[in-house]
Amino acid sequence: MTDIATNLREVKAQLPEGVRLIAVSKYHPAASIQAAYNAGQRCFGESHAQELDRKAALLPRDIEWHFIGHLQTNKVKYIAPYIAMIQSVDSLRLMHEIDKQAAKCGRVIDILLELHIAQEATKYGFTPSACREMLAAGEWRAMSHVRICGVMMMASNVDDEEAIAREFDAARACFEGLRHDFFADSPSFCHCSWGMSHDFPIAVRHGSTMVRVGTTIFGEREYR
Ligand SMILES: *Cc1c(COP(=O)(O)O)cnc(C)c1O
Repeated sequence: MTDIATNLREVKAQLPEGVRLIAVSKYHPAASIQAAYNAGQRCFGESHAQELDRKAALLPRDIEWHFIGHLQTNKVKYIAPYIAMIQSVDSLRLMHEIDKQAAKCGRVIDILLELHIAQEATKYGFTPSACREMLAAGEWRAMSHVRICGVMMMASNVDDEEAIAREFDAARACFEGLRHDFFADSPSFCHCSWGMSHDFPIAVRHGSTMVRVGTTIFGEREYR
């Protein structure tokens, strides 16, 4: 049996001061989330809107939910009333929809821009140059119901730790450049979300401020 409280404690022991832990609970039942909650965890990551909706309704109100999967624009309305942060914003169109739905709820929703740095062709996200172009175009400045809080990325799923570290360094360099050029006056642009079960110890040595760890805390996911 998975001892969630022990796993959580072991992951947290490896995180430097100031690095936030998002416990990725996708495909795990509400009872597992409740166990982590009882052990003190408050931030959870989910990647499907319907699954998140179903579980959020069953769980304590003070959980901070982070959306980390590919989000279709037609699903934004379901999570807009309560989502704490949408980390996987990979298009201007999605950002517009989040702005619109957040306005309807009278909220400002925190978002991260998803960067595509890894080699894999299937990953979503902005390349660093596309991200820069999008910000330079300036449309986002009129979106008063989204707050851009930083960047997120997933490294290539490889064993080569140096290759992974290089991708994290590239993401951090991109973040620094964007902060310098577009967010110099925005202290809330401060988050670098990278590091998963297999690479979070590398991530925290390479600029991460927020790790998203699932399997190491909850065990293997059961896809049904
Ligand atoms: C599933 C997922 C994670 C967590 O992965 P683990 O390997 O289980 O730690 C992190 N980030 C994203 C975007 C994910 O989809």
